Amino acid sequence: MKLTPLPALTDNYIWLLDDGQQALVVDPGESYPVLRALLDKNLTLQAILVTHHHHDHVDGIHELIDETGAVVYGPGRENIPEPFEPLVDGDQVGALGLVFDILDVPGHTAGHIAYFAHPQGEDPILFCGDTLFSAGCGRLFEGTPAQMLASLDRLAALPGNTRVCCTHEYTLSNLRFARAVEPSNSALKLHSAHCEDLRTRQLPTLPSLIATELEINPFLRSRKQDVIAAVQGFEPGARSETEIFAALREWKNQFK
Ligand code: ZN
Ligand code: FE
Repeated sequence: MKLTPLPALTDNYIWLLDDGQQALVVDPGESYPVLRALLDKNLTLQAILVTHHHHDHVDGIHELIDETGAVVYGPGRENIPEPFEPLVDGDQVGALGLVFDILDVPGHTAGHIAYFAHPQGEDPILFCGDTLFSAGCGRLFEGTPAQMLASLDRLAALPGNTRVCCTHEYTLSNLRFARAVEPSNSALKLHSAHCEDLRTRQLPTLPSLIATELEINPFLRSRKQDVIAAVQGFEPGARSETEIFAALREWKNQFK
């Protein structure tokens, strides 16, 4: 299986997974990069997986259906372009001979879902949309901090070697904030240098790994003593784990 991030729009990636003949894509915010890749690689598009309803994840769907006839799967609790197969937590989707488990991960949007599969003989794959970013997480447009924390806890519990396929190249700015939160985290410094080198060479910083995110992502580390202390410097009243997480998210929103 080949996993490729197709750059799209300003800073989106449309993930393309293929077996050399058949392909699926995730969150096509535009059709052109997908059609180009299918042509270049001589692939047939079998399925389109959608994580949530935002336009930068769905705007390419209609053209792709017209051009390829691919089947669309999406969040059953959100409005995305019809027709699509609605999915809820615990459902499974078969594509490219793989079985994807569907996880409800509300927070960024109310009905956001993620797709997890474990191809035989390969590391697992997670398509997490705008819920988990490398060194960050999505903004809370429709959900509560408690929901987002629970969603991130679910993703954090996946195997450490899971390849984390996020939909945006936000890594460097997320890492800048992460270093402000944990200035003495040495894994974070090392990973920052690695990602800066990748971006200098115009390479994607993704996929990341769950194991890496557990070491560097402040939003997966909000129960660590250093993170709690730093957050309380921003919001002294934050006490419970939900309050700490909410204040951490608010700090990131204001961070320049
Ligand atoms: Zn979004
Ligand atoms: Fe997005």
